[in-house]
Amino acid sequence: TPLVGVLALQGDVREHVAALEAGGARTTTVRRASELAEVDGLVLPGGESTTIDRLLRVFDLRDPLRARIAEGLPVYGSCAGMILLADRLLDGGKDQQTLGGLDVTVRRNAFGRQVDSWEEDLPLAGITDDGPPVDAVFIRAPWVEDAGEDVEVVGRLGAGPAAGRIVAVRQGALLATSFHPEITGDDRVHRHFVAMVRQRL
Ligand code: GLN
Repeated sequence: TPLVGVLALQGDVREHVAALEAGGARTTTVRRASELAEVDGLVLPGGESTTIDRLLRVFDLRDPLRARIAEGLPVYGSCAGMILLADRLLDGGKDQQTLGGLDVTVRRNAFGRQVDSWEEDLPLAGITDDGPPVDAVFIRAPWVEDAGEDVEVVGRLGAGPAAGRIVAVRQGALLATSFHPEITGDDRVHRHFVAMVRQRL
């Protein structure tokens, strides 16, 4: 059984731990490089990406994490976690950096002030093919403004003013969603990520 860590500097850590366990993983929280070194996969939770970015540097985790991503560590980023995985960021905070890895441009807080949250039933390629769509909950969420040709589009908004926008992507061992499956009790996205981790063991 793979050991999947949840980066526990800020954000909704407990919800991801629970979803990963429901999805068949052993779990641990990650706050230091020695803990990062132990895991077979990692979740970057939702929260505030500017804070997580700053704390990654304070805790001396930024460089070790970039190195593990470059080596092929499976990582799933949700919302703020998607922002952290993006190679390019629009509307980032002052001095905000990303870890990178995903060949995408992500727009932070993309739904705008009027739409702080959004909810939609979303089919996800390779994840909901044999079942109902996921209940996708977006909270001050980013979206993918554009994606490189090696990036697989897993989900797009189907309705509303932002219809057609990309909100779930995969590239190699990296998976990212703009929304928060960990708060809906549907463990299919986490189960899919755990399967990605198993494949790399
Ligand atoms: N708006 C947050 C950010 O910029 C992300 C929100 C979330 O993770 N729910 O990091």
